[in-house]
Amino acid sequence: MDAAPNSPAYHRVIVKVSGEALSGPEGFGIHQPTVDRIAEDLIAARKAGFALGVVVGGGNILRGVKMSGKSLSRPTADSMGMLATVMNGLVLEAAIERLGAPARTMSALSMPQVCETYERARALRHFEENRIVVFAGGTGNPFFTTDTTAVLRAAEMECDAVLKATDVDGVYSADPKKDPKAERYDRISLKEAFDRDLKVLDATAFALARENSMPIIVFSIRVPGAIEAVLRGTGRATVVGG
Ligand code: UDP
Repeated sequence: MDAAPNSPAYHRVIVKVSGEALSGPEGFGIHQPTVDRIAEDLIAARKAGFALGVVVGGGNILRGVKMSGKSLSRPTADSMGMLATVMNGLVLEAAIERLGAPARTMSALSMPQVCETYERARALRHFEENRIVVFAGGTGNPFFTTDTTAVLRAAEMECDAVLKATDVDGVYSADPKKDPKAERYDRISLKEAFDRDLKVLDATAFALARENSMPIIVFSIRVPGAIEAVLRGTGRATVVGG
């Protein structure tokens, strides 16, 4: 089935774009054509009347948990990870603006020479002004992820949902790349997804999503036009919660 059944209409959302989604076939670094294509998709959704914020990850450059060890503490490594998300945010903002839409990067880590510092009231104003807000720097704290940031910003920005961009078209009972019998869900509750350990979000992000009844829509960012289609309720996606 192509369309998620009885999809609610989403008007204002956070799109979580992992660092990996910005990388090319190598799976690391920044692949400009891929960034441009995602920017085009975001712009198309904005033109269609949806209000969008983007939370960018940094895993294409650095993940704190992998980097930390004997010579580097986790908080320092996580700071580096958060800086990686700012680099991704800047490249996405630049692409959106170059392709003709207004965008603002707001970082949870203060670096005024580089971009705006995240402030809730100011971010809400950017939404009102119909800008695409790129949230970078994660939550600004170590030991968190950008998935948690996405749910946090969605709640703060009074969004209807988080669109989690992945490289598969939804949530499966097992990894569809490894298990041909993996079953795909059109819809599943947050509790069930968590209890079955379906790897939709990390545990902290799950807790925040459940507490705020924030639906997570899992879709493939590799399909051009997917963001708008999912928002219209015609795209292929799994609705988790909601
Ligand atoms: N990070 C952090 N606090 C946050 C968000 C992110 O310390 O609130 C760091 C952490 O080291 C993480 C890295 O930034 O590994 C990149 O974020 P994430 O792993 O969530 O990126 P993604 O997997 O989405 O590319």
